[in-house]
Amino acid sequence: MKRIPCTGCSLLCDDIIVRTDGIYIDEIVGACLKGKERFDLVSSKNRITSPMIKENGSLISVPLEKAVENALKIIKSASKPLLYGFSNSSCEAQSAGITLARLLDAFIDSNSMICQGKTLKEASNSGIIFTTLSEVINKADLLILWGFNAAESIPRLLNKTLFSRGKFRMTGREIKTLIIVDPVKTASFGVMGVRDLSLMITPGMDLALIKTLKEECCSENSIPNEGVAGLDQDDLKRLLLNLREAENGVVFLGQGILRDPKGDQILKEILELIELINQKQQKGRISIIMGSGHYNMNGFDQVALSIAGRNRNLQFNNHELKESDETIVTKIHNADFDCSIIVGTDPISHLPQELSSKLASRPIILIDNKNTPTAHLADVIFPTSITGIESEGLAFRLDNVPVNLKRIVNPPNNLPSDKELLEMLINRLGGN
Ligand code: SF4
Repeated sequence: MKRIPCTGCSLLCDDIIVRTDGIYIDEIVGACLKGKERFDLVSSKNRITSPMIKENGSLISVPLEKAVENALKIIKSASKPLLYGFSNSSCEAQSAGITLARLLDAFIDSNSMICQGKTLKEASNSGIIFTTLSEVINKADLLILWGFNAAESIPRLLNKTLFSRGKFRMTGREIKTLIIVDPVKTASFGVMGVRDLSLMITPGMDLALIKTLKEECCSENSIPNEGVAGLDQDDLKRLLLNLREAENGVVFLGQGILRDPKGDQILKEILELIELINQKQQKGRISIIMGSGHYNMNGFDQVALSIAGRNRNLQFNNHELKESDETIVTKIHNADFDCSIIVGTDPISHLPQELSSKLASRPIILIDNKNTPTAHLADVIFPTSITGIESEGLAFRLDNVPVNLKRIVNPPNNLPSDKELLEMLINRLGGN
């Protein structure tokens, strides 16, 4: 039996026990359904286990060398390559991706750019404090899920934080208050207790709610009698009271905020509200945690910051980082690329149709281990080992704590890791 971290989501639970003979995984103990699905990928029918190229409109299996030849042909004839993905790869692969982008004078970004990377950027601009899960377990008395369906996106998060006992929270759940702000009654509402507060706001009214809370922070009794954003006056006062009185509160910022068309503005306003409350707080503080999805979404931000000094949107020119306001969205929208190298993600499914069809109109080189709509449209596919099961590496948990991922079984056909594959392309292109 071995104890390993799970890479099913960004919680990277490090208490999963597996029984394995190094070839098969016989038993998994402690993983949620989502985690179990991740381990099941090892023997999934949806797995790609040999390199493929597109010939006469169909994908065919080929030896690795033939796939490399085709990929190099595409890369060498391109002048504006695009590299994208990397949230499901180790930090070592992310670093190799940035090296490749520098070598090719390419643009590189991760899924984080259209997700929690926005939170990191806003939070670092405003100076808000990120906290860690250990702090939440040991000290938190208030947990707020804002646009964040923790129960389904990070299934064991509430077990570990809300229902746990901590060094200074020995009474556990009884002393912790949960507040959920969401326009949709998600599965997370199912864990609400009598002292908790469920705030189902009118869709699209987050900004009005935050504005009112900020006003009330500065001058009492500014909440209108009829309430705001579908919430009544008493509930809003209870929300503010909890924020002001918490010894150690944490706001989990979720995808619901980022998916809103005004997501950037909402994020900025929430962070300003927290800052305002912290200035007025007498006895405690409020901090934040990003509700990242993919297991190493935070890793790309950390790696890019340490290598390039920016956490996203890296454009290289003459092998140097160039100042640019471009994003993956503007690059694809303006068709400002001539091929793409996609790593561990499925943009054809995730991006809006206008962008995914533009992405598909140029050659795609895909590095991934499963069959997806992006795989169906790719020109070259390099299957790789599953990081955290078939290859090791480093990943950053949702609270930015580094976790070492382990290899417990051998990959089929000796598949390389994302990092090894990217390094091979770098070598073949004359890089170091
Ligand atoms: S919560 Fe996430 S990391 Fe933990 S077992 Fe489930 S999928 Fe794996």
